[in-house]
Amino acid sequence: MDFDLSEEQRLIQDTARRFAAEQIAPTLDEEERKHEFRADRVAKMGALGFFSCAVPEELGGSGMGFVESTLMGEQIARVSASWRVPFNMQNLGPALTVSKFGTPAQRKKYVPGWVAGTQLGFFAMTEPNTGSDVASMRTHALDKGDHWEVHGNKMWISQAHVGDAGLLYAYTDRSKGNKGITAFIIEPKKMKGCSARAIETKLGLHCAPTGELVFEGMKVPKENVLGQPGDGFRICMWQLNQTRLGCAAGALGVAGGALDLAIKYANERQQFGKPISQHQMIQAQIAEMTVEHQSAQMLVYRAAWLKDQGRPNQYETSVAKLAASEAAVHAANECMKIYGSYGFSTEFPAERFYRDAKSLQVVEGTSNVQKIIISGMACGHTPNRE
Ligand SMILES: Cc1cc2nc3c(=O)[nH]c(=O)nc-3n(C[C@H](O)[C@H](O)[C@H](O)COP(=O)(O)OP(=O)(O)OC[C@H]3O[C@@H](n4cnc5c(N)ncnc54)[C@H](O)[C@@H]3O)c2cc1C
Repeated sequence: MDFDLSEEQRLIQDTARRFAAEQIAPTLDEEERKHEFRADRVAKMGALGFFSCAVPEELGGSGMGFVESTLMGEQIARVSASWRVPFNMQNLGPALTVSKFGTPAQRKKYVPGWVAGTQLGFFAMTEPNTGSDVASMRTHALDKGDHWEVHGNKMWISQAHVGDAGLLYAYTDRSKGNKGITAFIIEPKKMKGCSARAIETKLGLHCAPTGELVFEGMKVPKENVLGQPGDGFRICMWQLNQTRLGCAAGALGVAGGALDLAIKYANERQQFGKPISQHQMIQAQIAEMTVEHQSAQMLVYRAAWLKDQGRPNQYETSVAKLAASEAAVHAANECMKIYGSYGFSTEFPAERFYRDAKSLQVVEGTSNVQKIIISGMACGHTPNRE
């Protein structure tokens, strides 16, 4: 067993750390206030190879894997959870899924743009009445001979209204249950019959846009089916198992960032004649945050490593996601408490960590859904998969 990162991995980690410190942190407060998304920053991240992990080299891949993607996502999220989201929207979601299930023409057409960060990606399964129970979706596509015609709508889709190309999951044959769901590659700005709007009432992740897609007979060419009609549910579950790791990496970053803030403040803030870090109850809070952060780190790195080995990892990925997202919320909560009234102020970053952390208990399967997956595999009801 080797717990060391390679020299190359340290370099990659350092590049992401510096990018967050130099390119995100200086303008973050202002951008958070304005809920500003920066497409130019996504392209910069793409140019640095942030979205090139685990993608074949001929499609823009860098030869790096899930461990490297995790290290980068973690470092970015230590500064801003919003800016970790593009890892999923560009690389771990659309690019990996189309690399695996796409035709040569689909791969060539779409994957390089997602990897470069010049084509904004997304994936859409959630609907107003469909969340955890993905197979209850209502969006459907009718076979019109030379094209598919899509009706319905998708809610809570990251990068939806700014997205250029992404994945859509819809029923093509409801009589077959979840085996009647099909995955499509869609281009909302170009395909007739699609409109989009931003959701502007989010608690956090203010620099990561989330929106709704409405399909009123959207025409999708036949060649944009990903895999075969009916493969959509299987593709969706595979995709979620990859994007779940991205979410876990983000949660790890939030937990670590909140812990750093709490330690710094506890060493500076004086009460009862000494730094509050010398009071035992504050020390206990810091110790608990440290244990949870480090445990989550081991679990998230292990899940990433298993993916790089091509070994079954769904179980370990869900364990990692659950542990890391709960650690993130707890760390941010404790950080706010340690900051006292300043934790309740929007002039200090503690509250932003908390607001952003709450999203991590919901996306890519809620904490309850992770428990269902984990216990199902632990009890031998379902097999562990790639
Ligand atoms: C910021 C943000 C970004 C998002 N980005 C995307 C995106 O890019 N693409 C996308 O498709 N979706 C996205 N989503 C949607 C997200 O994936 C869903 O919100 C999530 O799957 C949960 O669905 P829901 O909100 O409908 O909750 P529900 O499924 O309605 O669940 C409500 C509650 O019931 C619990 N619950 C549900 N079923 C069970 C059960 N069987 N046993 C026990 N408890 C259960 C849940 O854990 C939860 O606590 C995003 C959401 C947010 C907040």
